Amino acid sequence: MNSEVLYRELSELDKKHFLHPTTSIKQQQENGPDFIFTHGKGVRLFDLKGRSAIDGLSSLWNVNIGHGREEMARTAYEQMKTLAYSSCFATYSHEPAIRLAAKLADIAPGNLSAVFFTSGGSESNDTAYKLARHYWILKGEPERKKIISRTKSYHGVALGATSATGLKPFRDFTGSLAPDFCYVDHFSPADLRNKIEEEGPETVAAFIAEPVQGAGGLHLGPEGYFKEIRSICDEYGILLITDEVITAFGRTGSYFGIDHYSVEPDMMCFAKGITSGYAQLGGVMLTEELHRVFIDRSEGTLLHGYTYSGHPMACTVALKNLEIVESEGLIENARKMGEEMLKGFRSIEAESGIAANARALGLMGALEFVKNKETNERFQSPLAPKVVAEAAKRGLICRSVVFDQQDTLVFAPPLIMSREEMSELHSILEDAVKAVEKTIAPAAN
Ligand code: PMP
Repeated sequence: MNSEVLYRELSELDKKHFLHPTTSIKQQQENGPDFIFTHGKGVRLFDLKGRSAIDGLSSLWNVNIGHGREEMARTAYEQMKTLAYSSCFATYSHEPAIRLAAKLADIAPGNLSAVFFTSGGSESNDTAYKLARHYWILKGEPERKKIISRTKSYHGVALGATSATGLKPFRDFTGSLAPDFCYVDHFSPADLRNKIEEEGPETVAAFIAEPVQGAGGLHLGPEGYFKEIRSICDEYGILLITDEVITAFGRTGSYFGIDHYSVEPDMMCFAKGITSGYAQLGGVMLTEELHRVFIDRSEGTLLHGYTYSGHPMACTVALKNLEIVESEGLIENARKMGEEMLKGFRSIEAESGIAANARALGLMGALEFVKNKETNERFQSPLAPKVVAEAAKRGLICRSVVFDQQDTLVFAPPLIMSREEMSELHSILEDAVKAVEKTIAPAAN
């Protein structure tokens, strides 16, 4: 079948039958899918119409080792052939899950030493809230139930994860939320202290934060932020959970995002980069101290478990992925290419009348659009989505964030990015920004 005909057929079926995640339904119904991808190789994706594009967000911040890696496919194939699936419920186990748990204990920050596996980030967050509350039940303080999170945070879409998500549009989407969640200003340790005092420290189970906020517009914490919130949590005996779903496994130029701040969490959520998207896997890690409480005080069953907790193929794929991250020096590459990425963003910012506030940590970066660079005043109608469209036409996929009065482009290219690919990304982006800048009437400028 010719690809134009196939595209039309698939596009119609897509509109009729496929309810897309986090997608404008209206836009889907009007235009059909923008891209129908057929394959990927390295930092690029290819589509049915014969176009190719740099995957500037590693798809969903996850394809860290790049697309089309045959060694990953072979690893999955061998594991599926040998033991595609067996349960980890009750006391059943298997080598891939055991080896991965031990590997994670080896590389994780601080004293994190035990892991509960899930299938992704949202499940990891819900698991963290439940395990944190269960920990307090075991410790004889069952009234410690509240989970505090930050106003610009994104923690996923399961009911607990949605309830913890600070970004209001995600919470407003559904009629009611899980109880015992509250929010504090994204950047203010003082606000965390006030909220704890207001709620009563004896009712607070945990505080959760992303080391670098990603999906909500890519926000880096102010200097000293994490050290301060660690000490506030310690002062009130509150657990600190870091949500490293995006930041773990090299994305920020260190193994884990929190490593930049020399802080040790009590629990850590991960997903995405653990397998680079070659399989669905996430998890929550607990410190040895927390694990010890579970070991010493649990009498019944740990009544929390997903069918795919510790999926053998996913765990084997994760081990292979981490081997690649380490053997190819991808964490170091993320650090170097991250500096390169920021340099390029800064030069686009300097050249352009509308680009501003370039920032990055490792290969997580952002660029904003403003009407006035002095006051940071925004355009009434955001420009970032227009730049995304112009970039896509020229062969670069990136994402805009416009909720919460933002007008931001976010980037997280694969950790395998070369210098040449990075300069290609910059030159496409520069052209796309120029193309949009040209459309702005001088009066609006
Ligand atoms: N936490 C963070 C920080 C995330 O960025 C995401 C997804 N972007 C999630 C949780 C949810 O993960 P998932 O989509 O795998 O459920």
